[in-house]
Amino acid sequence: MNMTERIYHQSPLFIQKILIELYGKRMVKRRYNKEFFRILDSIRYRDRWPIDKLKQLQIERLKDNLIRAQQHSIYYRRLFKEVGFEPSELSDLKGIEKLPITTKTSIRENIDQVVNDNYKSHPHLITHTSGTTGAGLIYPESVSCEQEKWAVWWRFRMNRGIGFATWVAFFGGRTIVPINQSKPPYWRTVKATKRHMFSMYHLNKKTLPAYIDKINHEKISWFHGYPSFLSNLASLMLENGLRFEHKVKKVSIGAENLLESHKRLIKEAFGVSPIQHYGLSEPVANISECEYGNMHVDEDYSFVEFIPIQGQKDQYRIVGSSFSNPAMFFLRYDTNDVATITANHKCQCGRESRIVDRVDGRSEDFVTLRNGTKIGRMDHIFKDMINVVEARIVQEKDGFIHFDVVKSSSYQQNDEESLIQEIRSRLDADYFDIRYVDKIERTSSGKLRFVVSEYEGPA
Ligand SMILES: [Zn+2]
Repeated sequence: MNMTERIYHQSPLFIQKILIELYGKRMVKRRYNKEFFRILDSIRYRDRWPIDKLKQLQIERLKDNLIRAQQHSIYYRRLFKEVGFEPSELSDLKGIEKLPITTKTSIRENIDQVVNDNYKSHPHLITHTSGTTGAGLIYPESVSCEQEKWAVWWRFRMNRGIGFATWVAFFGGRTIVPINQSKPPYWRTVKATKRHMFSMYHLNKKTLPAYIDKINHEKISWFHGYPSFLSNLASLMLENGLRFEHKVKKVSIGAENLLESHKRLIKEAFGVSPIQHYGLSEPVANISECEYGNMHVDEDYSFVEFIPIQGQKDQYRIVGSSFSNPAMFFLRYDTNDVATITANHKCQCGRESRIVDRVDGRSEDFVTLRNGTKIGRMDHIFKDMINVVEARIVQEKDGFIHFDVVKSSSYQQNDEESLIQEIRSRLDADYFDIRYVDKIERTSSGKLRFVVSEYEGPA
């Protein structure tokens, strides 16, 4: 918690309301100013450009950024020299493969030399990425980069029927309500951003009716936030037979992977399936679900490469190069996320950009068997387990796997039997157990980390 947050938490409610409104106003002023709407206007229909035109745009933007990196980053200037790469000669996208893939670790260790040597003279902010493994990155981000990122996110929302006038029930990880507060409101309303921000840390069976009353009273039709938080709300609603009195139109999610069990619970309680998009703080990749349910790469935003993972059919690492952050360079940056791609088919929506079957989430979300086999999408084990509130997989140093489960009150013996069956159908191993727990701990930023593994694979 930083100084401002500490002051906020120690203030009486009416001061908190003023502070959070001021914070909202400041954010709107910086993020959604005239320049933002100019950018949004110029990219609004760019995702529908013919693929050749998009590729041309990619080469131009990538080249510009590479030349800037050569001129202003000590790290990249040296790297380009070492591998004999000359950005001004780049004529096709394949040309970038001359550069090695960079990892978050190498960027973090060399951050002083990676950044633009002149970034301080341009408007920028300092961005923190949290990262589910705890290893974050702190880097300068130009204001224009932040605006383009939000423009691409808003394009996705607008394509799916969400506009700037829509109020949102926001379910994020921030502690916006002091943890020792024991009566409503368990939310803060920010007029400037049209957000009702709900606290994830106060939601339980007892406080649930207050949350539902507030949502009903405001007739909020758009929900956005961490899928684990939204599904927790959904599961409590189902268990206690509570529904919203109005129609929920949209649920959008961010920050965590959408697990199958979360999707099912949200659909059941809210009456709509969540719409999906993949993005990250680093401006290297963005993938948006279209009206036909296909996940399209936003080709105009960055240059995304899908690098095959050896021994894993149809699985690719998502590696991306940014166009838009002149303050700091991300070139062939490994996101650590994995996508499944089978065939590239045409989509009815008319967009010609590449399609990804799904983003399987972080490569850390895999368990490794003692024979070396890596298994992802473990959340499918819990897909139909309707009496499981929440779950997590913990793998010990020696490879032993615990399935941590939070049971609902209707959980019975046959649930455990089908869970074991589901596990056995995916893991050819007997070194696992099921542990029943009261709750699943979150990371410091409030995120659910679905797979926690300390096992490094067979020696
Ligand atoms: Zn489509």
